Amino acid sequence: MILTDISIGNFRNYDSLELEFHPKLNIFIGANAQGKTNLLESIYFLALAKSHRTSKDKELIRFNEEEAFVNGHINTTYSTLPLSISINKKGKRAKVNHLEVSKLSQYIGHLNTVLFAPEDLNIVKGSPQIRRKFINIECGQISKVYLSALSSYQKVLATKNQYLKQRSPDKMMIEVLNVQLSEYASIVILKRAEFIEKIEKFAAEIHHDISNGSENLKIKYAPNIKYESSIQEELQKELELLFEENLAKEMERMQTLIGPHRDDITFSINDFDVQTYGSQGQQRTTALSVKLAELELIRQEVGEYPVLLLDDVLSELDENRQAHLLTSIRDRVQTFVTTTSISDINHAIMNDMKTFAVEQGQ
Ligand code: ATP
Ligand code: MG
Repeated sequence: MILTDISIGNFRNYDSLELEFHPKLNIFIGANAQGKTNLLESIYFLALAKSHRTSKDKELIRFNEEEAFVNGHINTTYSTLPLSISINKKGKRAKVNHLEVSKLSQYIGHLNTVLFAPEDLNIVKGSPQIRRKFINIECGQISKVYLSALSSYQKVLATKNQYLKQRSPDKMMIEVLNVQLSEYASIVILKRAEFIEKIEKFAAEIHHDISNGSENLKIKYAPNIKYESSIQEELQKELELLFEENLAKEMERMQTLIGPHRDDITFSINDFDVQTYGSQGQQRTTALSVKLAELELIRQEVGEYPVLLLDDVLSELDENRQAHLLTSIRDRVQTFVTTTSISDINHAIMNDMKTFAVEQGQ
């Protein structure tokens, strides 16, 4: 999938701008606060009708303006497709092939993107909660079954916790909720295990390449509940028993103590824990490998590579890692990269690409 061009209006610090892109590698170069990330954000917005860094859409509209838009064309193996998305006070309007869609879900999915931003380092360094959020988003993108089981799990969990906080909770009610929880939890757990196994396979290969063969990355699911069976109905029964065993303790502590809401993922390089012992560059490479693995997963699901957006990653990778990243990726995946200085870019990759100087929203 190739994004051939975009035109944007009143988006962040841009008033109006038209850009034609290189099919392989595009580099946005500029000092701090000039609008490099804003450009990546506009592509992300064109793809997903939302921003990666704010949930408040109105922040995307240029100060003192009423409406922002991003238009673009994508080329897939099969077709060329115009996409268009705009926001104003009343909300968002999205068009595919010049036709307005009534639901955003009909719009999303035409342009697929994977974005790697500095905050993604937290997938490795941050709290388990951040890793759960990561897995929920990524798994949710490729599995509707996962999304629906997760949302049901969270609803029942909230209800159960409310009951547990009451002065004299109804034990039978909690038992009923536990049966429901077990069903949803079993689906969530098995999907997570499957997803992490797939991600590990791709990420380990990518990490091995980027590190020039010196590092073996392992990614493991660390489920809060240790379980035996990988058959959903059987796992559900296992969980029912476990919840039963924990019932007294949960009533005493007034909260749900076990379940996938306490899951985690672990990363290791050459068998040491990356979060505890990894260098900054190793942690960054790990997070990057995980994100790049998503490119492969999406290709498996959709049949085509998404476009890749890399915000501020070059400065922290050494020359080898950088050259490997940009040369091997751009032949398969159209890539957009930001950097503050051209000297951050290795000479080995300075061909077959287009650079854009970004200055004060121009
Ligand atoms: P860095 O190298 O520091 O990451 P950058 O080039 O990525 O910088 P951006 O985040 O793209 O910078 O742009 C930041 C600029 O955009 C800031 O000057 C900010 O004031 C401006 N900006 C952000 N939102 C808006 C908006 N809604 N309207 C106008 N300007 C905005
Ligand atoms: Mg930036």
